[in-house]
Amino acid sequence: MAIDFTLPPDIEEIRRRVREFVEGEVRPAEQKLEEAGNDRKALIEMIIEMRQKAKDWELWLPHMPKEWGGLGLGPVGMASVSAEAARSRMGPFLLNCQAPDEGNMHTLLHFATDEQKEKYLRPLCEGVKRSCFAMTEPEVAGSDPTLIQTHAEQDSATGDWVINGHKWFISGARGAAFAIVIAKTDPDADPPQARNSAFIVDTNTPGWEVVRDVETMSGGHNHCEIRLTDIRVPADSMLGERGGGHKLGQVRLGPARLAHCMRWIGQTELALEMLVDRALNRYSHGSLLADKQAIQWMMADSAMELYSSKLMVLHAAYKIENGLPFKQEVSFAKHHVAQSLWKTIDRAIQVHGALGYSTDTPLADMLKQARWARFADGADEIHQQTIARNVISACQDHGSLQPALGDLTL
Ligand SMILES: Cc1cc2nc3c(=O)[nH]c(=O)nc-3n(C[C@H](O)[C@H](O)[C@H](O)COP(=O)(O)OP(=O)(O)OC[C@H]3O[C@@H](n4cnc5c(N)ncnc54)[C@H](O)[C@@H]3O)c2cc1C
Repeated sequence: MAIDFTLPPDIEEIRRRVREFVEGEVRPAEQKLEEAGNDRKALIEMIIEMRQKAKDWELWLPHMPKEWGGLGLGPVGMASVSAEAARSRMGPFLLNCQAPDEGNMHTLLHFATDEQKEKYLRPLCEGVKRSCFAMTEPEVAGSDPTLIQTHAEQDSATGDWVINGHKWFISGARGAAFAIVIAKTDPDADPPQARNSAFIVDTNTPGWEVVRDVETMSGGHNHCEIRLTDIRVPADSMLGERGGGHKLGQVRLGPARLAHCMRWIGQTELALEMLVDRALNRYSHGSLLADKQAIQWMMADSAMELYSSKLMVLHAAYKIENGLPFKQEVSFAKHHVAQSLWKTIDRAIQVHGALGYSTDTPLADMLKQARWARFADGADEIHQQTIARNVISACQDHGSLQPALGDLTL
């Protein structure tokens, strides 16, 4: 039998170390920070100290190859490491595997020239610079990148590209040293997916303007509105091939979506643990909440969803790692894990009653954060559309559902 659900010992050892690091180092530091009133200076000092500790614990940059200073973990190893790291909101950032830099590092590794890698990938890996990814625009549906209006024209005299446009919800833009910007270069190309190209833009280029940090339902989190006015970049700023912007976005988004799922699993697990803990300690109508069937159903539903989330993520990660088609499996996971995250946090709030609704526990904030999981990086409906199309084509073209169900042999 070839099916083996255990992790190789070296990866299991890293997973265990991440858990110890989060519990033993990050949590106490977070606690201290909270006691200091989340003071900005204290936060920066904490980040510097914890990032150094992540290096000392040999947990830095788990997703990158060793030659770039990373641990060289593939998607399967990363699934368990990211889920562990995400049990603290700051965990992934402290290991330098947070969005959007993680996705940008993979993108640069895959598409950048050697010069671009030295200039942009190297400082990201060293943790001395941050980046952002600028695709979504307020005027057109982000779900359909062929509609992008930001455009780049080439100056025939110099070869430079001049970019104009408007982006928003660009995570991490404030403080980012550079952005990967998706812009239209070939408006008449057919198919429409060949109309966009990607550029690396230094954020100190004249014409790059951070208009505002968009205030969200959970406050400001550096998801910025950006105006690009006559931004002039040299020809060698193009990332990948001309007209390859859509493809680059797709290559980036598959694993990046799965990386989100891995982090969401960590948060779902935390919410379920909080639900159980509260139920074991709250007494009402003659027994603990944990003894009531209605509460046990919530635990059971959450546990089943968490278990299926883990299986889906591991299977999709396995497919990516082995060079197999993975789009369907990533859509399953993105939809299912985002839904499970939302439902489990909501149930945990229910079991906490008024305490859950207060800001005395992290649950209220976790719920607000979880809301965007259901539409960012592919709305639920887009993934359902992809899944259904694959189901139809499997039936019509192969006479079997198997290719649309993960190619599983049962
Ligand atoms: C916290 C956060 C961080 C983000 N970070 C980044 C970032 O760093 N860089 C970046 O470029 N973007 C980023 N985004 C933007 C994100 O990727 C978009 O929100 C997403 O692609 C959806 O685009 P939209 O918001 O324009 O919604 P729309 O495309 O307008 O869709 C709105 C809704 O319409 C429905 N819908 C759309 N199309 C279909 C369809 N074909 N069938 C059925 N229903 C449909 C869905 O219900 C969907 O939720 C971020 C967003 C959030 C909330």
